[in-house]
Amino acid sequence: MTMIRKTRLFTPGPTPLLPAAQFAMAAADIHHRTAEFRALYTRVLKQLKEFVGTKTGDIIVLSSSGTGAMEAAVSNLTSPGDRVLVLTAGKFGERWTALAKAFGCEVDVVSAPYGQTFSLDQVKAALKLETRAVFMQATETSTGVRHCVPAVAKLLKETHSEALLVVDAITGLGTTHLDMDEWGVDVLIGGSQKAVMIPPGLSYLAVGPRAWDRMEATYNPRYYFDLRKERKNARAGESAYTPAVALIAALGAALDYIAGQAATAENPAGDLVEGRKKLVENAETIAAMTRAAVLALGCTLFAPDAPSSAATAVLPPAGVDSGLFVKELKSRFAAIITNGQGEMKGQIFRIAHLGFFDYMDTIALIGALEQVIVKSIPQAGIKFGDGLIAAQKLYAERSQTAAAEAKCLCGRTDACCSLQHSDAK
Ligand SMILES: *Cc1c(COP(=O)(O)O)cnc(C)c1O
Repeated sequence: MTMIRKTRLFTPGPTPLLPAAQFAMAAADIHHRTAEFRALYTRVLKQLKEFVGTKTGDIIVLSSSGTGAMEAAVSNLTSPGDRVLVLTAGKFGERWTALAKAFGCEVDVVSAPYGQTFSLDQVKAALKLETRAVFMQATETSTGVRHCVPAVAKLLKETHSEALLVVDAITGLGTTHLDMDEWGVDVLIGGSQKAVMIPPGLSYLAVGPRAWDRMEATYNPRYYFDLRKERKNARAGESAYTPAVALIAALGAALDYIAGQAATAENPAGDLVEGRKKLVENAETIAAMTRAAVLALGCTLFAPDAPSSAATAVLPPAGVDSGLFVKELKSRFAAIITNGQGEMKGQIFRIAHLGFFDYMDTIALIGALEQVIVKSIPQAGIKFGDGLIAAQKLYAERSQTAAAEAKCLCGRTDACCSLQHSDAK
């Protein structure tokens, strides 16, 4: 049997590209010091602000991958010798520690084992009077875990209001309910190759008033990633240096598409706040379908207590190297998933749900997973349909019930996250 190969990305960055964004890139042959670009940039910054969901923050776009924005947060908000706290449970949390150390900070670390989130008591115990900033992820992509941002924000407000809260929401945005202003997050970071469906190369930050105030006094070295300089330029519709013009055009098209998901007869262009809600709900639904399917297929979840809707990390049946799934899905179905990072390689495989994925993609991937398991892992005793039935049932149930009442401060509608805030209602 020969079949054509149609490559599909199921990776948590880069994610599949939105065709309209690709066309916008191809058409973006404009100079960045022109009225044409200023109109585009001003529009995209305004859209991004609605997408991120802040009224008080300024949006800064950088020509870098997501790590550039993480570095900018550290270099702009700290001075050498500042005490900071990093909350980590995976590879991206560890990046915060490395970055803060690179800029001379005294770094306290709260860590949880891979596959888990930290407890609020651990955070409480690690906060010091001198803690100047707290760095965390909304979702830790390397392990498929979701951290509870609002619980940490609330704790800081109550006990350490001097400490800034910086959240890497690079895979949290568009997959998780986030409310920067209401919760009191000072900096929220996103990246282009994640839920906004465009290629890598842009990062963005929403920076709140307390963070801008902090920058008046900090003196770590910064030049290309000087946020105050970028803000000044952004207010005039430009960026300090040559921006990634084509990616900015693509981002505008992607945000139009996301807004359009909430189009109505009265408002055919839609609405970004409502569109983002739909994007999050979409990720939550296909993540839940995927979890139900892999469990029915004899696999287990790497992060069962606080699973993120950005990506699902899966432990294969006992004794099987996760690389088998990566390899077989690619060679037989041209479906690209990811292995575990670092020491998690061989242990888990990861399937992304962020951005331009839908029901059809999800069902197809589950079908391919069944093919791999039935053929390559017969000892698992799985039959065709086991995963699909679980996913189909879950989808049918979800489409019948209106979004369940949130059980947790962080807006989760499934089991509450393991932080278990007592005042969660
Ligand atoms: C992708 C990602 C990043 C950024 O990585 P880059 O390769 O620099 O874009 C940061 N944090 C998380 C949680 C991510 O998923």
